[in-house]
Amino acid sequence: MYVKICLLSIALLCLGACERQSASDDPSETTEGKAASAQVKLYVFDCGYFHFDDVTSSGLTNDETDVLDLFVPCYLIDHPAGRLLWDAGLPMDMAGRGELEYGPGIQVRYDRALIDQLADMDITADDVQKVAFSHMHFDHVGSANLFVNSTMLIQQSEYTAAFEHADENPVFDATLYDKLADTPKVLLTGDFDVFGDGSVQIFSTPGHTPGHQTLLINLNQFGPVLLSGDLYHFEKSRELRRTPTFNTDAEQTLASMDRMEQLLIDRGATLWIEHNQALANTLRLAPAFYD
Ligand SMILES: [Zn+2]
Repeated sequence: MYVKICLLSIALLCLGACERQSASDDPSETTEGKAASAQVKLYVFDCGYFHFDDVTSSGLTNDETDVLDLFVPCYLIDHPAGRLLWDAGLPMDMAGRGELEYGPGIQVRYDRALIDQLADMDITADDVQKVAFSHMHFDHVGSANLFVNSTMLIQQSEYTAAFEHADENPVFDATLYDKLADTPKVLLTGDFDVFGDGSVQIFSTPGHTPGHQTLLINLNQFGPVLLSGDLYHFEKSRELRRTPTFNTDAEQTLASMDRMEQLLIDRGATLWIEHNQALANTLRLAPAFYD
């Protein structure tokens, strides 16, 4: 019933455009974000923080940016057809322990575990039907193992790298997500329309990792917003087109950047660089939301 109402309202709003929307599996070929009418809410959670004494691994020199702090977000997308968790923050066992040394010149802090923040909203892991991660690095999958009853949306290439060859990439920590090895999943080989109505779309943006992906959410009030994972770490990374030294493929990353920059223009979307602490300071955090 919902689908019929939704399609009808889209048809009334956009007429010919909806035909392309329903006929195409490729969300990049669908209509502008404004066409989506589903009542989607986007919640942002504080899932930690990094401080770096040295940012050269991000591809910038220490003279090029005075930003040394990175926010670590988690996001929950509430769609009438179900909930999607996008990125799962720092490892759960870091939560509530104050500032910790992660490595030489790197401090982390994670005040309150994601699962506790969800509980404040009367949401359990089992209430989250779908999970997707921009990529499987440790600061994006810290609570992944809790979501064993959710369907994971992951690129085939990321699955292969993170689940079958994790030992080849030191930024993968398979112990954080190994419980998802045999849970329900959709193995993607490109872009994906998460709820089938164009409102929430995954874009394949390889380079940072083999199957890195980004998420476009078409919010009715706020407008389309692109959560860019680790396509960029800093504003300066975007401005100067720099790729981290630990990316799996720099050329692929630059091509993904070009594709997302064009998408931002085509959709009139707002870019949220996920690790951007200055941006995070301006965002409404859950239980407040964007719609
Ligand atoms: Zn990251």
